[in-house]
Amino acid sequence: MDGLMKGKRGLVMGVANDHSIAWGIAKALAEQGAELAFTYQGEAFGKRTKPLADSVGSTILLPCDVEDIASVDAVFDALKREWGSIDFLVHAIAFSDKSELRGRYADTTRDNFTRTMLISCFSFTEIVKRAAELMPDGGSIVTLTYGGSTRVMPNYNVMGVAKAALESSVRYLAVDYGAQNIRINAISAGPVRTLAGSGVSDARLMFNFQKRHSPLRRTVTLEEIGGTGVYLLSDLSGGVTGEIHFVDSGYNIMSMPRLDELKK
Ligand code: NAD
Repeated sequence: MDGLMKGKRGLVMGVANDHSIAWGIAKALAEQGAELAFTYQGEAFGKRTKPLADSVGSTILLPCDVEDIASVDAVFDALKREWGSIDFLVHAIAFSDKSELRGRYADTTRDNFTRTMLISCFSFTEIVKRAAELMPDGGSIVTLTYGGSTRVMPNYNVMGVAKAALESSVRYLAVDYGAQNIRINAISAGPVRTLAGSGVSDARLMFNFQKRHSPLRRTVTLEEIGGTGVYLLSDLSGGVTGEIHFVDSGYNIMSMPRLDELKK
């Protein structure tokens, strides 16, 4: 199947480099004919994102730091000027101080809790609100989450709490915007080797554990997450909203590690 996104325009937020989940989704969207705009956080990521945006024929590349709401407003003002409306949006943004993605959750500081929640959770609500104003004919919005939201993953700590709040936001926003035919969903991805992913202490150990113990006996690829992105952002998923869709080789269904692996 190709051309699923033909005639659709949208914004991808969260590309840092070609390993980013946002890039995996962007590539899949472009392959299906979508027209894309990108944001980047800071000049260093801007330099990495530019050639990627060029490679999919994108001409709109804008700076955006979600801690600075004026920069978020500037992005949507620019999109309104350039395109008038959009059909979809990808939010793949998260941050927490690395020094607190280890050890005990109980030791999270007030400052890092607040900052993690703002960047990794509340930014989604602020962005959805602005994106919805550019979706007069409806649309589809996707964010990225992780299973550490509902089950304790070692070292994921405050990020797990932020992802739980993000997933809850997905459900509330799905109701708020359902009447405008704007669908809001999240992809809960298995571990992927990215900049943000490597910020969690013992990331390699967790990556290998999930690889060994998931039903598919492997981790997921950017292409697989991208494919689910296309599904959720295209008309194929027209009746789907408020969902947390796992793309994790099935790891979330397990109540304990697989016996055949444990007995090896
Ligand atoms: P990444 O490092 O490639 O992307 C994270 C992005 O967040 C970067 O582009 C960074 O610039 C952006 N960001 C951070 N703070 C920001 C701010 N203040 N303003 C604007 N942008 C900001 O890593 P990734 O793994 O592709 O992360 C994308 C999303 O996927 C995140 O929400 C992450 O939690 C989620 N996720 C990752 C994994 C994994 O294993 N890597 C698994 C499940 C979910």
